[in-house]
Formats: sequence, C-alpha cells, structure tokens
Amino acid sequence: MNLLDSHCHLNDDLFEDDWQEALLRMQQAGVARCILAGSDMASSTRIVEMTSRNEPIYGVVGIHPHEAKTYVDGDIERLKEWIKLDKIVGLGEIGLDYFYDFSPREVQKEVFMKQLLLARELGVPAAFHVRDAHGDLTDIFRAHKNELPAGVLHCFSGSVESAREYLDMGFYLSFAGPVTFKNAAKLQLVATYCPIDRILVETDSPYLSPVPLRGKRNEPANVVHVAAKIAELRGMDVEEFGQITTANTCRLFGITP
Ligand SMILES: [Zn+2]
Ligand SMILES: [Zn+2]
Repeated sequence: MNLLDSHCHLNDDLFEDDWQEALLRMQQAGVARCILAGSDMASSTRIVEMTSRNEPIYGVVGIHPHEAKTYVDGDIERLKEWIKLDKIVGLGEIGLDYFYDFSPREVQKEVFMKQLLLARELGVPAAFHVRDAHGDLTDIFRAHKNELPAGVLHCFSGSVESAREYLDMGFYLSFAGPVTFKNAAKLQLVATYCPIDRILVETDSPYLSPVPLRGKRNEPANVVHVAAKIAELRGMDVEEFGQITTANTCRLFGITP
C-alpha cells in the first residue's frame, strides 16, 4: 500500500504524548506520509515545528473559520514566511462554517478572503473547510473565478450537485471517515461520482474515526479504512486506488510522489 493521509491534526493536544508512535503505526499500516492542517496561529506554529524534524509529515498553515475571530494584523505576514519552508505545502484549513458559527459570519468571510488571495498570490494550494455554507463559498469562488488557487474541499460532505460545482472550478474533493458510516448513502454516491483523478483521502484525526473504529481517537493509520471503503464502492482494487489518490495529493500539494 502507498497511501497518504491528506489532512490530519497530529499537532492536536490529544496526540501530545504519542504523535511519533502514531506515525510509526501509520507507516506500519501502509500509509507512508501525512499532511497536518492548521487551525489557528498557535497550531500552525506547532506544525512548523513538527515538520522541521525529520519525519514523514508535511503541513498546511492557516486560520480555520472557527478561529477567524482571533485574526490579528501581521498574521498574513507570518503565514507568508511559513509558506517558504520546504515542508509547508499550502494554506489550510480555511473556509466558512455556519454550522457552529464560532466566529461571526462577516469575520469568517473577511479572514477567508485574505487567505484565499494569499494562496493565489503565492501560487500555493489551499485546503478548504466548509460546513453549511456552500452557497456563500461558491458565491465567493464564482466572484473570484479568475484568481482562484488550486485547492481541495477537505472532509467533503456536500451533495453531488455541489460536488459538481467545485469540480468544475478545478478543485479536488477529499473524503474522510463519514464515507464509511452506515447512513452515508448520499456521501457514498459523491465518492463514486467524483472523477478518480480528483479524489483525495484523509482522516481529519483525531476526529471522525471510520467504521469499524467509531468512538475511538482517530489517527492517520486509519485512512486505510477510508480508502478501502471508497475502493469497494467504486469496484476498484484498494492498492490501485491508493496509488492514484496518493498521486493526486502529491500533484495538488507539489510533493514528491
Ligand atoms: Zn475541517
Ligand atoms: Zn481538519
């Protein structure tokens, strides 16, 4: 197996004591590498530090919509500096989340726009987080259609119609544990519909453990279950599916295959 977990949070406090062991378990499971995603400036700082060691990890840095309210002047400059580092391969996670509304929507939009334009300016890809905000997100994308960076809708949970819209804009879709859930018929349809050269897989660990590990702390090794489920849905060999999704991730983030 040659899998790559395209989005996880090994930098999370829940991994404070054993993130290196989790990396070993990941490699034993046939998952060669993973990409850590930032949520705010503190977690991004931690990712910069973790990726500076000689480990099979990359990172994206950025401010999640939940944390948009913590944005201060100067953050964009710091993100810009971090992006220059070899193992920092893009911005993320950035987007809109109207399910929780942890930051006011206007602030979410403003902080998202700053980072979207930064990704474009620097020519780096972005990992997008969107929940209950597909209308506003696609409006923004349409309004800026000539200045969009490359990107992936991480932990995609939308309909086939919204998937089509993002795919038409050139974006990738990444699937996580929920695609393995019993009540996930709609999402499974999207995972079957998505062109094979646009699919990524991820864990979003420590959250969203896939079947059969629901309720436990999730970790990068478990991306195997996500890949196996989608390969089964598509009637594909899981090895081949893994090769292709890893190649997709490397192409998007400019990582050596
Ligand atoms: Zn997210
Ligand atoms: Zn995440």
